[in-house]
Amino acid sequence: MQADIAKILFPREQIAQRVDDLAGEIVRAYDLETNADLVLVSILSGALIFTADLMRRLPQPMRIGLITVSAYRGATTESRGARVLRELDVDVTDRHVLLVDDILDTGGTLRLVRERLLLARPRSLRTCVLLRKPSKAPIDLPVDFVGFDIDNEFVVGYGLDYNDLYRNLPDIGVLKKELYSC
Ligand code: 5GP
Ligand code: MG
Repeated sequence: MQADIAKILFPREQIAQRVDDLAGEIVRAYDLETNADLVLVSILSGALIFTADLMRRLPQPMRIGLITVSAYRGATTESRGARVLRELDVDVTDRHVLLVDDILDTGGTLRLVRERLLLARPRSLRTCVLLRKPSKAPIDLPVDFVGFDIDNEFVVGYGLDYNDLYRNLPDIGVLKKELYSC
């Protein structure tokens, strides 16, 4: 698996350090009163590992909600619109929601999930992404916490896949060109 990686962008130690710092930002943003009703909503499958690491660095009581979204990608690296594969499994009405995703690219995924969550009338809704591609990220989509801004490259590892592989790679990197089908 490591042999398929052309370049490591973020080694595991750097990711761990940044997740620590992000957790600090998040703790400061939510005051004690809001803590009791916090729900972390994780967008599977990409945000699986990021969510697991982030939630263990947040000391306040919280619930976890899962929603599975497909960005219609398969064996390509191009986004073709998002679709919910499995609905959210927790009640967010009147609760403070922190939406967690792996990467903000065109914004289709976050927009879709945000609209669904807002229908349930949460008390507040903030968004946290580990990675953001600023060249394409839409300005009308607010993101409160960002791990790293990256160039417009297709990355894998730390939960991010190519054709459902490489999610278990502990670092974030770029695949060798010859491995992509487009
Ligand atoms: P968007 O809907 O913002 O275009 O894309 C977001 C989703 O597409 C992410 O949640 C992620 O699952 C996937 N995605 C976007 N860019 C990349 C990338 O560089 N690598 C991988 N593995 N997935 C990506
Ligand atoms: Mg995703």
